[in-house]
Amino acid sequence: MGQFGGRLKIDLGAIQRNWRGLDSVSRTALTGAVVKADAYGTGLVPVSAALWQAGARFFFVANADEGIDLRHTLPDAHIFVLNGLAAGAAQFYADNLLMPVINSLGELDQWLKLCIAAEEALPAAFQFDTGMNRLGLRLQEVSIVRSMMEQSGYLPQMVMSHLACADQPNHEKNRTQRALFQSLLAQFPDIPASLANSAATLSGRDNHFQIVRPGLALYGGRAVQGRPNPMAPAVTVEMPVLQVHEARTGETVGYGATYTLNRDSRVAVIGCGYADGYIRSLSSSNGKPGAHMWFGGRQLPVLGRISMDLTVVDVTDLGQNVPLPGQFVEVFGPNSLIDDAAEAGNTLSYELLTSLNGRYTRVYVDENGAEFSV
Ligand SMILES: *Cc1c(COP(=O)(O)O)cnc(C)c1O
Repeated sequence: MGQFGGRLKIDLGAIQRNWRGLDSVSRTALTGAVVKADAYGTGLVPVSAALWQAGARFFFVANADEGIDLRHTLPDAHIFVLNGLAAGAAQFYADNLLMPVINSLGELDQWLKLCIAAEEALPAAFQFDTGMNRLGLRLQEVSIVRSMMEQSGYLPQMVMSHLACADQPNHEKNRTQRALFQSLLAQFPDIPASLANSAATLSGRDNHFQIVRPGLALYGGRAVQGRPNPMAPAVTVEMPVLQVHEARTGETVGYGATYTLNRDSRVAVIGCGYADGYIRSLSSSNGKPGAHMWFGGRQLPVLGRISMDLTVVDVTDLGQNVPLPGQFVEVFGPNSLIDDAAEAGNTLSYELLTSLNGRYTRVYVDENGAEFSV
């Protein structure tokens, strides 16, 4: 934190509008909020407080450490831990009112033992794997799950699964997984069901069931491929210009000399690199365009390889309007979309957001436009 590096501005009002937008898309389904990985790099504490204020009551984190941090911020939230019940930690979850997403028979056994000892049906979700081979109870285990439930009289708060290809709404895997999930639900009558991440929430009512679980879309990311993004950008990254200079046709830029200038150019050296999460795959070479920054109404292409703390961009087309040392260029934001950068870098806005790290000065903007830091 300081005044000489990058600035990361998080628009809490935009995150709140995005949550409300998703809540109206999901109609009668409850709208949760996925705040794992420090709310996708935007800051768990201020973002969760803003989401609560907007009306969110169901929160999803990756592990119990994140769950504890969230519990301290939101004493009354319903908190699900997606990565499940850590071994030997059942009492810890119960003490902090964290609901494990039960992902295996071993976890179920551990949780039911605690419920019996506590003489209390402590709430939890059951997740079934319908086709990702990631976490989740196996579909063929459903009869064992049913008999464990009958023996103990236990009912879960929610039954869930996760789609592998939700970002491609026409992918046939979505139909297959949805059908498997539907038939599974017959075994859990009257238990609320949840299938949808952001993309599935935005792409069809068939996915909504009783609770939706958007993450990326809250933070303004483009969840569905090949469609206009209805969400408001919530994250702006600005980086300082260190130097502007002239360079000649035929000169190369950066490590590896991967980019040769094909015209006399004016270049700006920006104080930002992969140590700031401006990852190396956003680099360019003559054969491959990279990401762009933005200043003065124009896109500024990245030239050559991104280094640890420095990136060079082409400012030739700005003419006399070049930025001065100390001015800031927009790296990600409303004019320089993080999803476009992700596409140029052959990655996802998920990775770019969660790569934004502690090097930034973080500023939050509340729904009234007031700025504050935490
Ligand atoms: C991360 C995650 C989500 C949220 O996904 P987005 O694509 O960010 O909306 C939902 N459900 C599960 C199980 C997840 O791991």
